[in-house]
Amino acid sequence: MKDYRRYSFWLESSGDDLTPRAPLDGSISVDVAILGAGFTGLWTAYHLLQRDPSLTVAVVEAEIAGFGASGRNGGWCFSGFPVSPEQLTEAYGIDSARAVQLAMYDSVDDVGKVCQEEGIDAHYQKSGSLEIARSPYQLERITEHFEAFRSIGLEDHYELLDAEQATEHMNVARSVGAFWNKEGATVQPARLARGLAHAVERHGATIYEQTRVTDFTTGPAPSLITERGNVNARVIVLAGEAYLSRLPKLRRQIMPFTSHIVLTEPLNDEQWRQIGWERREVVGGSGTTGGYLNHTADGRIAFGAYRARYPFRARITDDLDRREDVFEHARKATIDWFPMLKDVRFTHSWGGVFGIPRDRMPTMAYDRSNGIATGRGYTGEGVATSNLSGRVLADLITETDSALTTLPMTRHQSPDWEPEPLRWMGVRMVAYSRLKMNRTVERTGHAPARRTIAQRFFDY
Ligand SMILES: Cc1cc2nc3c(=O)[nH]c(=O)nc-3n(C[C@H](O)[C@H](O)[C@H](O)COP(=O)(O)OP(=O)(O)OC[C@H]3O[C@@H](n4cnc5c(N)ncnc54)[C@H](O)[C@@H]3O)c2cc1C
Repeated sequence: MKDYRRYSFWLESSGDDLTPRAPLDGSISVDVAILGAGFTGLWTAYHLLQRDPSLTVAVVEAEIAGFGASGRNGGWCFSGFPVSPEQLTEAYGIDSARAVQLAMYDSVDDVGKVCQEEGIDAHYQKSGSLEIARSPYQLERITEHFEAFRSIGLEDHYELLDAEQATEHMNVARSVGAFWNKEGATVQPARLARGLAHAVERHGATIYEQTRVTDFTTGPAPSLITERGNVNARVIVLAGEAYLSRLPKLRRQIMPFTSHIVLTEPLNDEQWRQIGWERREVVGGSGTTGGYLNHTADGRIAFGAYRARYPFRARITDDLDRREDVFEHARKATIDWFPMLKDVRFTHSWGGVFGIPRDRMPTMAYDRSNGIATGRGYTGEGVATSNLSGRVLADLITETDSALTTLPMTRHQSPDWEPEPLRWMGVRMVAYSRLKMNRTVERTGHAPARRTIAQRFFDY
């Protein structure tokens, strides 16, 4: 039996018994069958049962609830959406761009509300997110970011901070300013995933763990096919994010990328006095030492490195979780941000996979004609976005008339990724371009005169 505690500090400290629930034992029929007990699958189950408590819902999970990215992420439950307001406006118009952002604000709040209503102690605290600029180029970027929100009339949710104001939030070496997004919360993600799993069970869903879906059929009576029987349903929901690339029918729909986090020991009062960061905002920054940070409820710093790697042919294995070179980079980056922690001890390190669709636009769609619903493609910004998926899919499946069902993600289909080895080569090219660009920025303070491949791909 696997020791699931070792997959992240969050799972280890989730306060829950990680012994797997019973697997599926023979074929069954339900109204809705959901592949995956991560945030997307669990939020979909939760909101479906809120809309219609009479539904029979089965969640089928290969490992345990919260095993995937949901139990391992940086705990940024914030309104960031993988596609920028400018790109959304260009593709779908200003009203849709605004509607997506407003729905994301609601998602951050919905996570907090459900935690409270269901008694889930996920250490949720809504203090916003801070993007720290540590070079003139990064300052330009956060200013552009602010202007993008102003262009859709939502600037009240954000604030640009100068160096002094940024330092009032927290003392980061070489900070020259910050972008404060008020619509963000910190969470202990595994507590949220495990708590949600218990909540959906209380509301009537059944979760089958240790049951891998190997294929699915479509049509008026679709089913999830597993090694332990089939789950026949009216609707099946594919909520496996990066892992969906393992299913032959979806292999080119989503690309898995790794991300890694290191964790310090609990800091002492003097260290916290020097750093500040009293409000526990989630914090990030770009550049070669960029990352996504969390101030945990027990007084540690989690530092997630922006060193995403794509495993050739999308092979997801446990080995991907342990990249000592990336961990070492992340430890050094932590000290680069907080030189006062030069002697700190790092106690944990882990990794996981998130999914990227070819056009970076998430899909939250239900096709009544083939019985398939899916929520996926969050490009590493899925903690709050998966809650939106759950609410959108629940409304679509139960035919609830709501503004959520007209969001652009509901009629979206991402193009396929290129076949190998083109995909691998393309990823390497973008990664190299990104590294080169970061180095130029750090040497000169500015981006190269010509827009780089990385900028074109990442809106960077
Ligand atoms: C290290 C890391 C840090 C991150 N940090 C952040 C962050 O701070 N903020 C943020 O917004 N996002 C972050 N993300 C992304 C975010 O965690 C994900 O987007 C989100 O958790 C996706 O939820 P999900 O339920 O769609 O997928 P997952 O949580 O990956 O869940 C999918 C589930 O489906 C199961 N499954 C897959 N295939 C099958 C199958 N064939 N049969 C049965 N079960 C299957 C898996 O075992 C898994 O439990 C991070 C991701 C990683 C890896």
